[in-house]
Amino acid sequence: YIHQSKQTSGKVLNDISLNDDIIGQVNDEVAEWADTTEKEIANLKKMEVFRKEFIGNVSHELKTPIFSIQGYIQTLLDGGLYDQQINYSYLKKADKNVERLINIVDDLETISTHESGKMIVDYEAFDIVQLAQETFELLDMNADANDVSLSIKKGFSPSIKVYADKDKIQQVLINLINNSIKYGKIGGKTEIGFYDLAENILVEVSDDGIGIGEEDMPRLFERFYRIDKSRSREAGGTGLGLSIVKHIIEAHKQTINVRSTRGLGSTFGFTLRKAS
Ligand code: ADP
Repeated sequence: YIHQSKQTSGKVLNDISLNDDIIGQVNDEVAEWADTTEKEIANLKKMEVFRKEFIGNVSHELKTPIFSIQGYIQTLLDGGLYDQQINYSYLKKADKNVERLINIVDDLETISTHESGKMIVDYEAFDIVQLAQETFELLDMNADANDVSLSIKKGFSPSIKVYADKDKIQQVLINLINNSIKYGKIGGKTEIGFYDLAENILVEVSDDGIGIGEEDMPRLFERFYRIDKSRSREAGGTGLGLSIVKHIIEAHKQTINVRSTRGLGSTFGFTLRKAS
């Protein structure tokens, strides 16, 4: 009645029958309205906290490489430039940190594109097994450096067609495989398996690395969430990889999940629509 009277003030009276429990109905509506408003306010408050935390995290993440770059450049300016022992290596280190800045900004850009609802999913039919194979090739240097072997699990059809955004799904595979290497063990292995789920294909990336504790699971896909900050940073992580993965899979209206045991390894699984 509240909404109605706002829209059709005056007319509403004609519809009221004396048998209706008008006061009761209005009461229910007011209660419902109060409830919704309260929830909206709580939600806005939560977002505000989230926003503040996010800005804090971003500036912290950007500061680390910026201060490193500043340190190297200042040392070079203070005479280091003429010191053959350090001039080249300091420039190299500054350059590495610039790369890191670019990585962070790229990841932030991907996230903001999705959050502004502008992530366009460019669907096409492609072979996911082949894409996994190509992604392994792309990352074999990283894998070799950590002595991790990358392979497709045995027993699957050599060709499985899915309908999705190929570039974005490759980004998902890159992030998951890179994580399996970064948080893997020396001499470990990363395997990808494919499972038929009627309309969808389940893609699983498994490793036998350090694993994830139960208590960290719920926050894993949050922006900037890292279990071991120093290990992540050392490995070039930004803490944004998994939140990008989640965004991409959600933009496809598909799901992602994780199973893991600390010390034994982790399995990240996501679904994709089968190409008909
Ligand atoms: P990062 O850039 O730090 O790797 P991610 O968002 O990709 O950020 O991952 C978030 C955190 O989740 C990581 O810092 C790491 O602690 C944990 N993590 C992700 N993948 C794995 C994995 N395969 N095994 C163990 N821990 C992982």
